[in-house]
Amino acid sequence: MVLKLYNTLARDLAPVTAPPERPLSIYACGPTVYDYAHIGNLRTFVTNDLLRRTLEYLGQEVELVMNITDVDDKTIAGARAAGETLTDFTRRYEDYFLADLAALNVKTPAAKPRATEHVPTMIALIEKLLANGRAYPADDGVYFSIARFPSYGKLSGRTETEGETEASRDFALWKFWKEEDGETAWEAPFGKGRPGWHIECSAMIADLIGPTVDIHTGATDLIFPHHENEIAQSESVYAAPLARHWLHGAFLLVEGQKMSKSLGNVFTLRDLENRGFSSLDYRYWLLTAHYRTQANFTWEALAGAQTARGRLNDAFLDLDSGIGQADESYRAKFHDFISDDLNFPQAVALIWQLLADSSLTPDVQRATLLDFDRVLGLGLAELKPPTIPPEIQNLLVEREAARKARDFATADALRAQIETAGFTIEDTEKGQKIRVK
Ligand code: AMP
Ligand code: ZN
Repeated sequence: MVLKLYNTLARDLAPVTAPPERPLSIYACGPTVYDYAHIGNLRTFVTNDLLRRTLEYLGQEVELVMNITDVDDKTIAGARAAGETLTDFTRRYEDYFLADLAALNVKTPAAKPRATEHVPTMIALIEKLLANGRAYPADDGVYFSIARFPSYGKLSGRTETEGETEASRDFALWKFWKEEDGETAWEAPFGKGRPGWHIECSAMIADLIGPTVDIHTGATDLIFPHHENEIAQSESVYAAPLARHWLHGAFLLVEGQKMSKSLGNVFTLRDLENRGFSSLDYRYWLLTAHYRTQANFTWEALAGAQTARGRLNDAFLDLDSGIGQADESYRAKFHDFISDDLNFPQAVALIWQLLADSSLTPDVQRATLLDFDRVLGLGLAELKPPTIPPEIQNLLVEREAARKARDFATADALRAQIETAGFTIEDTEKGQKIRVK
């Protein structure tokens, strides 16, 4: 297994090394479940899936852990506004989120820990940080002292947010209970309250993986301060690197702008569906942008992806269903592209080269596409030829007879009738080819 990936910490491409005798661990910072995931969030989760599938394609066993952030300021405020318990409120959005992942053919992570189920570990970590002097209590909570962690900033090259003062850059590990937290509180030796967001990830990593993760992922907005803070907390307790490899996906823009509620451009999969797009059209479009470049979502671009995916599906269904073997030279190219920092735009371009390559027999093309789709996840294996109702079949037979008799006026009238019923016909050397519009 040789996968080269850009490592944010090393600031360079580096081979991912396979751990001996255990699956490779990936920790993905998961969603905060207070609303539907938007297509920017989903880009990041598709990237995680492509990473996981690539490693598996290369023969590496993987254990992907993706957390669910089900307690923080936004989830507490959301539950209050909805008049629901935090659990009822967050579970609903968790379910929507998991349904979105399924619609995008994102393989289910091996574990999906919820922050609220790992609070004892968070408390234990904070106690250790208090004991070793990296943390201190204040009026409203327990804070991590950045000045006491000398390598703070090594991931991001930053130590403070713009406009922040030296004193205010310390971050909360624990927030003491306030009225607006309602029922959401845990007893702790240092005071009743709730965890800060950063300690949640450190605790879930410790519980599910251990002191060191092989690959830690997120989008670029998490590099600072979230991941910098995770490093500070975990490394202060375990004195081992939190992650060997850091992968960060670039952001998704919409029509050249950052998504925001005020611009009305925060789209979800439901918005895409309402405009006639399937989730897999979106997945196809994501494959055509490299994960380290900002991608600019436009409806025109998505329509282009929909057309391309439709053509791919049609071409796939047209291939002989005989059992062939994947072509080794195409497999080698595909392997080279995806193992070169997940170069999926090139891997997608290879599909079209393969389909245009007349030196390959259809059964080989089909087997090769199915092999690629283990990583691309476009659902080719599940495609079924469209079912044509008997009355349309009859019209096709009549049209064939009219064409044979060179009665083109009747043939054209029949075509119009078939098309009005929602199908398209193409006259090929092998006869009429019918598709659902
Ligand atoms: P959240 O639910 O806000 O915690 O975000 C879930 C994931 O989506 C995190 O890894 C974020 O970094 C990522 N994310 C948020 N906005 C975008 C965006 N516009 N493009 C790509 N990823 C994003
Ligand atoms: Zn995290």
